Amino acid sequence: MPTKKTTLPPSTTEAASPADTLGRPLRDLRISVTDRCNFRCPYCMPKEVFGREYKFLPQDQLLSFEEITRLAGIFTSLGVRKLRLTGGEPTIRRGLPKLVRMLSAVEGIEDLAMTTNASRLATMAPELRESGLRRVTVSLDSLDDARFREMSDAKFSVDLVLEGIEAARRAGLVPVKINVVVKRGANEEDALAIAQRYRGPDYIVRFIEYMDVGKTNGWRMKDVVPAAEIIEAIGRELPLEAVDPNYRGEVARRWRYAGGKGEIGVIASVTQPFCGDCTRARLSADGRLYTCLFANRGHDLRKLLRSGANDDEIEAFLHDVWSRRADRYSEERTEKTPDSDKIEMSYIGG
Ligand code: SAM
Repeated sequence: MPTKKTTLPPSTTEAASPADTLGRPLRDLRISVTDRCNFRCPYCMPKEVFGREYKFLPQDQLLSFEEITRLAGIFTSLGVRKLRLTGGEPTIRRGLPKLVRMLSAVEGIEDLAMTTNASRLATMAPELRESGLRRVTVSLDSLDDARFREMSDAKFSVDLVLEGIEAARRAGLVPVKINVVVKRGANEEDALAIAQRYRGPDYIVRFIEYMDVGKTNGWRMKDVVPAAEIIEAIGRELPLEAVDPNYRGEVARRWRYAGGKGEIGVIASVTQPFCGDCTRARLSADGRLYTCLFANRGHDLRKLLRSGANDDEIEAFLHDVWSRRADRYSEERTEKTPDSDKIEMSYIGG
């Protein structure tokens, strides 16, 4: 056990649950459990960059389950109530159900969710549910097998993902949220088909504008399909009405089908940024804390953990980081900002 102490910033005397410089509280923590993925979606992990030669994080640099759980507990003292496991692909982290079990026992956590490509859900859903996972969000960009394979650039068929979604529903991980990244010229025509298939109380489909995360996907503004356009196209076939947000900080704008039968959402980070309500922090698989999806600098929590800092010291550090937070990248985005140095989404956690 290392004993060397890290120098901590001066602790603050404000209330335990801090607001950042824009008055935003800390409520959600997204935890990346691995930077590896078994898909190579070109908009996230293009094969030309994330090929055989790519150096992923070695095992000893990943936070252990004990370290993640300890941090989750400290984050609850600062106001975090919701955890989301992500990556990379979280289901490829060995022993994931054990981590879910440990996190579900953390006092103060009200919601425990996971974002996944569902390639392993058909077999894992029951055990994850039984371990304490409450909900899943599944990424699915097309129902058409050929287009699905283009969008995911991996060896899996779309049927495997569809089975995973059903396994999640049967296991009670409901409503199953289905994330669809819509990219101009790639899968616009799939949006309506996915909305139609997953209409009903057990599912919520959310259309995501293609974002300039990281710097390897060659993002261009002209590839973005604005959320308003998606809503209009779906609304022509399935009439929609706007719904109020469930809570402050909800990323998706909600719409319900007129006459019942469920709802859909749009995550319009590019055309309708929602930084003003962002209550999320992100923890990378190697223990760096990021206060924005588009950040280029993280805070090394693993070093703190492994240098013997106690919980109060770590809490003071997190308090200080959050209190200074001023990020509002999506509101400041211009055609030029995508060239800035940004961390890859597969590393920071989607
Ligand atoms: N592997 C998991 C999955 O596929 O859901 C979790 C990680 S993935 C990075 C999380 C989410 O980010 C997915 O829904 C994915 O579609 C989305 N995503 C990745 N790159 C994106 C981009 N450039 N624009 C918008 N969404 C993106």
